[in-house]
Amino acid sequence: MFRIIESQRVKYLVSDKIASPHAFSTRIGGVSVLPHTAELNLGFYRGDGKETVMENLSLFSRASGIDLGHFVSVTQIHSRTVRYVTEDDRGAGIYYRADYECDGYVTDRPGVALCIKTADCVPILLSDEDAGVIGAVHAGWRGTASGIVGECVRMMCRLGASAGRIKAAVGPAIGKCCYEVGPDVRKEFERLCGEYFAGRFVQPAEDRPGKYLADLSGANKAHMEAAGIDGENIDVAGLCTSCRSDLFFSHRRGGGQRGTMCSVIEIGGSPD
Ligand SMILES: [Zn+2]
Repeated sequence: MFRIIESQRVKYLVSDKIASPHAFSTRIGGVSVLPHTAELNLGFYRGDGKETVMENLSLFSRASGIDLGHFVSVTQIHSRTVRYVTEDDRGAGIYYRADYECDGYVTDRPGVALCIKTADCVPILLSDEDAGVIGAVHAGWRGTASGIVGECVRMMCRLGASAGRIKAAVGPAIGKCCYEVGPDVRKEFERLCGEYFAGRFVQPAEDRPGKYLADLSGANKAHMEAAGIDGENIDVAGLCTSCRSDLFFSHRRGGGQRGTMCSVIEIGGSPD
């Protein structure tokens, strides 16, 4: 189950499945004042000045108790690339521009906070507490169709995690209530995931011929189950970013004019 926590005016969500320190941000509790970025925009290049975004990141970091100096949050490119990161990557995408891009991370190092940026796309945080291995994934429709979350699970297992022990939290994302897509998306799901999978998660919109409604959260849950994670260990927020514009930023709803949310996780215990 997901819960909303309010700390120092910042609202964020946590999943009770995940014991490691983690947080899914909302739009509440920051210093942005533009209509489309108010209040807690955590993304650069969305209309806010750099100082405003850094102040918001500091507020989110303090509220969630995860050190901003630990964050790794590089440019996301709707790929299937998951990267192993260490303390050498800390600050990438926050304090300096990294020389790589990716859409997922894994680590077995304490003091490294994996940070995914979204505003409709699906943020997924994963943890095997016993092995001390965590992962984080950004899955838009392309990443979902390409099965990036399954790739993340496989990389976690190479670091010593066991799929049977992994707990996963699927954060707020655009729901099938609002995520209308064209036949190109359905075709790509058919090509990469098969007809059955595509039929389950990209269904024809009843009153709009040629249009489909995609369930990205459900599709990612199915990918995780196929990778060996127990369905009981997967927590799905089920909150639609487009329906709940009071709480979240939505790329689709804002026509691209929107702030950015962060989902972050790090291994518990004391690093260094
Ligand atoms: Zn919706």
